[in-house]
Amino acid sequence: MDQCITTLLSLEGWQVIGVEETARGWAVTVDAPRPARCPRCGAIRLHRHGTLPARAVPHLWIGVHPLMLTWVPRRWRCAACRQTVCPRPAGLRPPRRPP
Ligand SMILES: [Zn+2]
Repeated sequence: MDQCITTLLSLEGWQVIGVEETARGWAVTVDAPRPARCPRCGAIRLHRHGTLPARAVPHLWIGVHPLMLTWVPRRWRCAACRQTVCPRPAGLRPPRRPP
């Protein structure tokens, strides 16, 4: 079932933590996979580098209600080049910094 949900949402590799039907539609909570490699240099040694506040976005429309996707963005830092990586669901833009 979880794999069906991640396939439907184009979130292969993500873990489904919870699925809830609310008065305003479905709410799905997911957790990002650990990045396999650094996107800049390809190194495989990535260390946890904290988390960002939880995000909730309308990800998909089911009938007249949006499916709300919630996750806690986890940051990783490459041990080789110091690049930070923050996996996010496919198709979503990175969060904007506050002005
Ligand atoms: Zn790197």
